[in-house]
Amino acid sequence: MTEPDRTFGTFARVCGILESTPSRSEKVRIAAQYLKSLDPDDAAVAAMLIIGRTVRERERDLAAIGWSALSSALRSVGQSVLLEHRPLTVSEVWSTLEGLKAHTGPGSREKKVRVLSALLSRCDELEREWLLRILSGEMRHGVSHGLMLEVASRLSSTDLEEVTIADMLLGDVGELVRRALTGTLKEVGLEPMRPVRPMLAEMAYDPSEILAAHGGRTLVEPKMDGVRVQVHRRSGEVRVFTRRLKDVTHALPEVVEEVSGSVRWDEFILDGEVVAIDEWGNPLPFQETMRRVGRERSVEEVAPLVPVRLWVFDVIFADGRPTITRPLSERRRALESAVDPELLTPARICATKADVEEALEEALRKGHEGVIAKDPESRYYPGRRGARWLKLKPSETLDVVIVAAEWGHGRRSGWLSNYHLAVRDESRGGYAVVGKTFKGLTDEEFERMTRRLLELRTSEHPWGVEVRPEVVVEVAFNEVQRSPRYESGYALRFARVVRVRDDKSPEEVSTLSEVADVYRRQFLGKGRLDLSRLPSD
Ligand code: AMP
Repeated sequence: MTEPDRTFGTFARVCGILESTPSRSEKVRIAAQYLKSLDPDDAAVAAMLIIGRTVRERERDLAAIGWSALSSALRSVGQSVLLEHRPLTVSEVWSTLEGLKAHTGPGSREKKVRVLSALLSRCDELEREWLLRILSGEMRHGVSHGLMLEVASRLSSTDLEEVTIADMLLGDVGELVRRALTGTLKEVGLEPMRPVRPMLAEMAYDPSEILAAHGGRTLVEPKMDGVRVQVHRRSGEVRVFTRRLKDVTHALPEVVEEVSGSVRWDEFILDGEVVAIDEWGNPLPFQETMRRVGRERSVEEVAPLVPVRLWVFDVIFADGRPTITRPLSERRRALESAVDPELLTPARICATKADVEEALEEALRKGHEGVIAKDPESRYYPGRRGARWLKLKPSETLDVVIVAAEWGHGRRSGWLSNYHLAVRDESRGGYAVVGKTFKGLTDEEFERMTRRLLELRTSEHPWGVEVRPEVVVEVAFNEVQRSPRYESGYALRFARVVRVRDDKSPEEVSTLSEVADVYRRQFLGKGRLDLSRLPSD
C-alpha cells in the first residue's frame, strides 16, 4: 500500500480538480477517493478544509480572521524567515488555523498576522490560492456541506438519510467523515452534553394549508420571539446550547436555576426558547434576548437588569433514552408529566380554521410573533426544516446573509449602510443576491454593523466592500419580483431589516427555492395566477 499523501499541495490540486469538474456525482467520487487515501484523522480535517471551514462547527464564531489581518499577513510574507523546508501537511494547516482562536485580547491581531504570514510563506502559489479561499470562506468549487454528506454516504456505503441524521447528531462534519471511514457511523448516538441541531419550521400562509398538511389536527403553540436553546442535564450538571451548538451556560444562570427544581428527570435534553422579559414578565424585543445570550462578561451585573425566562416546548432525551422517534403528542404528555407547567409553552390542539385563527390572535395579543403549528403525530427530526412544523406569522420575512455593503451618503456617510442581501442557492451552491436595503437599523446599529463588516471584508471597491457571508439578518418586504438585475432572477421589493439574527448561521438562511415559492404564492393569493410567468423550476 502506498503512503497516504498528506501534503497541502495535493489537497490544493484536488480542490483545483473539483473546481474544474462540473458534474456533482463526479465531484462526490473525486472527493471520496481523495479522503479515502488519507488516514481517518487527516481525512476529518481535510473534509472541513474542503468545505472552507477553519474551526469546528460549535466554535464557528471564535476564529474570525478579518480581511485586514489577512492582507497584513500577505504583505509580510516575504519578511518571514523560512525555517521550514518540509512540505506543509493538511493537518498542520488545520491545527494552525484552529490555533488562531487561542489568540484573544490585546495584541492578538498581531499574533494572528504573524502566524498566518508564517503559514503563507510555506505555501507555493497554488497552495496559497486555496489557503486564501479557505480563509475568505469562498471555495467556489461547488463542494458544499450537503455534497460532503454525499461523500460520507459513499465512503460508508450508508444511505444519505442516515448520514444526514448522523451529521445532525454530531454537528461536526469532520467527525462524520472520520466515522464514515472507520465504520463507526452507526454508533452515533444521542446523549446529554452533546448538542444536536434543533428541528426547524417551514413557513405557512394560512390555517387551511396547515390543517391539510397535518391531517386535520394540529398542535398550535405561540411563536416566542427569543433565542432557541437546548438544555441538557447529566450527573447534576446543566448546560445550555444555542441552535449553532455554542455553549452559553455561563450567560444564562436563570435558565440553569429554572430547570434545576422544575424538571423531574435526572438526565434530559429539552428544546425551547429563551426570552428576555420585563418586570411584569412580558417579552422584550429580540435584540434584548440576543444581548443576554451573547454576553461573555459581567453576566451577574446584567442578569438582574434584563432577566430572561425559558419556555420549554419539546424533549429530545429523557431518563436514559432518546425520545425523538416518539410522536409529538407523546413527547408533550411526557413533558406535562415531568416539567412544571409554568415552564411549558402553552399548546392547544386545533381542528378547524377558526381554532387556528383564534390561537394566532391570542398569541399576537400576548406579544408573541405568531404561532407554530406542529403535526401531533410527527417524530422529531434534528436539524430538519419541513412541513411537520409550520410557522404562521402576520408579516412575512426571509432570513438573508449580507454579502456586500455600500458606503452611505449624506447623514449616513462614513457608514456601510446599504446592504446586499443574499439567500442560499441550493442547486448551484453559494449565495445568490436578491436585493439591497438601507432600512431598518438605528444609528447605533449602523455603526456597529460597519465595524463588523469591515472586519469581514474580502475585497474593497470605491463603492464599498464585499464581505465573508457571516452576518444574517431577517428582512421584511412588500413583494418578490422577477428581476433581471440579479443573477438569482428575483428581487425583494422594499426590503427592510427587522432583526440582526446572530443566533442563525449563514447556512441557515432562506433558500432561493423559498424565494421562488413566495413569488409563486403571491399570484395564487391574489387570484391572478399566470402560469406563463412562473419560473420553470
Ligand atoms: P424562524 O426563526 O423564523 O425560522 O422560526 C423558527 C424558530 O422559532 C425556532 O427556531 C425557535 O427558535 C422559535 N420558536 C419560538 N417559539 C417556538 C415554539 N413554540 N416551537 C418551536 N419553535 C419556536
